[in-house]
Amino acid sequence: MTNVSIRIRSSGHCFASGHHVIQGAARTPVRFEAIWAELIHPEHGTILFDSGYTSRFLDATKHFPKRIYALLTKVSIRPEEEAHRQVDPSVVTHFICSHIHADHVGGLRDFPDATCWASEECLEQVDELPDWRSWTRGVLKELFTDGWRQSCKTFESRPTIDHPELGKGRDLLGDGSIVLIPLPGHAKGQYGALVRTDQGPVFLVADAFWDIRAVTEGKVPNPIVRVFFDDMDAYAQSLQRIRNFHAKHPKVPLIATHCPEAAKLIVPIHSAI
Ligand SMILES: [Zn+2]
Repeated sequence: MTNVSIRIRSSGHCFASGHHVIQGAARTPVRFEAIWAELIHPEHGTILFDSGYTSRFLDATKHFPKRIYALLTKVSIRPEEEAHRQVDPSVVTHFICSHIHADHVGGLRDFPDATCWASEECLEQVDELPDWRSWTRGVLKELFTDGWRQSCKTFESRPTIDHPELGKGRDLLGDGSIVLIPLPGHAKGQYGALVRTDQGPVFLVADAFWDIRAVTEGKVPNPIVRVFFDDMDAYAQSLQRIRNFHAKHPKVPLIATHCPEAAKLIVPIHSAI
């Protein structure tokens, strides 16, 4: 059985009101890291699950109307935090896009030699959303290379695996070490990754929830932010599958991109370059 090693990393952060993330919480601003993961596979090398922000976000949102996106999210990113400064791009063989929001694919252009993976629905979104309004869906086309859409491989092209609580997943490498799990709702075509490590499984859930209390205490986001969600019913169903999984496997870490609990696992930056 092949296992991977995992390092939880972060590139940049943004601020949001606490009461937007958890209904009834204080209105004080809460810092949200943009977490991603470095997975090291003994045969396939280094694989990234998302990449957080890069300064390209700030460049792409300098002018109106895209500036509204920057004003709403108040993003901050230091150069040394960027994914390509934490992991040497020449060793990265695969790049998994959980979904195509700017805080997940910010570093995509820095890993041109990696095989990129995304869901069919995410690729369709790139085709369907015109540049002038894609930012309203959290997508900045400046973050993708010209040929990205054509070269990107799809999760759906990989063999299926049935998981008792999580349903149908996709086996990325064919050895069960990284199983991609559909988690739609927050964004169309969002996938998480159930990763097998020497210390046991780790479930990377992207933006399926923003705070672990959504799973452990049944707390949900404020209705104000629900307008930004792609599909509330799908969001609730994905969250329920994660709750079922957590009830059965309470020790498996659930790593959500912006969750303060997951942020405690971020490894210190030792610049790769
Ligand atoms: Zn997102």
